[in-house]
Amino acid sequence: MITSKQLQHFLSKEQESRYHAVCQAAKEKYPAPVAPDKRLGYAVIGLGKLTLEEILPALSICKYSKLTALVSGDADKARKIAEQYGVPDTGIYNYQNFDEIKNNPEVDAVFIVLPNSMHHEFTIRAAKAGKHVLCEKPMANSVEECEEMIQACKEANRKLMIAYRIQYESYNKLIKQWTREKKYGKVKVIEAYNGQNLPSPNVWRAQKKLGGGGALPDIGIYCLNTIRYILGEEPTSVLANSFSTPGDARFKEIEESMLFQMTFPSGVLAMCGTCYGAQTAKSYKIYADEGYYGLDPAFSYSGLQMHVSEQADKKIELHKMPTMIEEDQFALEIDHFSECIACDKQPYTPGEEGLQDMKIIKSIYQSAYEGRVIKLDYHTEKDMFRGPDPI
Ligand code: NDP
Repeated sequence: MITSKQLQHFLSKEQESRYHAVCQAAKEKYPAPVAPDKRLGYAVIGLGKLTLEEILPALSICKYSKLTALVSGDADKARKIAEQYGVPDTGIYNYQNFDEIKNNPEVDAVFIVLPNSMHHEFTIRAAKAGKHVLCEKPMANSVEECEEMIQACKEANRKLMIAYRIQYESYNKLIKQWTREKKYGKVKVIEAYNGQNLPSPNVWRAQKKLGGGGALPDIGIYCLNTIRYILGEEPTSVLANSFSTPGDARFKEIEESMLFQMTFPSGVLAMCGTCYGAQTAKSYKIYADEGYYGLDPAFSYSGLQMHVSEQADKKIELHKMPTMIEEDQFALEIDHFSECIACDKQPYTPGEEGLQDMKIIKSIYQSAYEGRVIKLDYHTEKDMFRGPDPI
């Protein structure tokens, strides 16, 4: 819990009162939402598809968080969206005057939803402006950038969380619990796939400088991060292969497909695939002694479906569980971050979690390039890069 002396040092009177209200509500385990004027304020940076279709609507239903500012390179769009969501003119910024956000007491945190290459710069600028940072995945385009982002937030005494929404979603939480409790015995093999068609060569995702890579850091990261989350373990080696269709303009700079295997300290083997040139498919399966279980679709924003195969009366039965839980994964992760800010807790998916993915991604590229197994640091502690479990 943050002390009142610390609060006075860092926060205005209004911010102090917001922090107290949210922390109190969180301690009472999600009662009714806190009053709108007591919710923590967010500036969303980058008004692209994810922001407009998911994040702004999610902020409207958050219990501890609300939208108070917008940052965009397109002034007309920003004005229109500001009007739609009730953001005042004083809450509209562009990429040049963004640093003035430090004078806006209505903004407690920023949510960075920009092309991957811009996450590093805006995390550092936001921390210097005294704002907490929620940053989209992948955290950045290199290990060094991730380390600098963590350092900048530490120096500014601001929190940093990477927006791994899957780790806040109920079906994935249940699968993590089953795996750790060995509900179907010891897990032996996991397979995971995340693929979709890149629409054109003209999007930032097709430019290595902006995306940092191709399918792997954008969507393959879900396979990697979700398996690490479910097991709570870190891979000890990777082996990978990549391919891009010759002549396909979308893949001049980036990989189209990547297959990678990972080994884990408990003996689990994982096989993962990701592709930017095939119809959308998102799934994973966990094979254990006495059954297999997983999600298909797995990484979508909604409609996740669980599959379980187990032996009953010497017969193997496959059950498709009806989709019963429909929750807003974005609202859950944003409110978790607000709770961490208000109660001075480490986020469940802090910068260190994003850094670890980036280290593994770097080794996957190295393996594909050099055609050999790459050994990784051996970690035995469970969940070693995560904060305390969210509510
Ligand atoms: P979009 O291309 O739809 O939007 C990106 C926005 O960034 C643009 O609309 C623009 O906003 C701003 N921008 C600033 N500079 C540039 C530039 N040079 N080129 C293109 N856009 C620029 O991307 P997404 O919304 O799909 O992705 C944004 C981030 O969110 C990425 O890091 C991505 O990995 C992540 N993401 C996460 C998902 C999740 O489920 N967690 C799902 C999808 C994406 P403006 O016009 O306001 O300046």
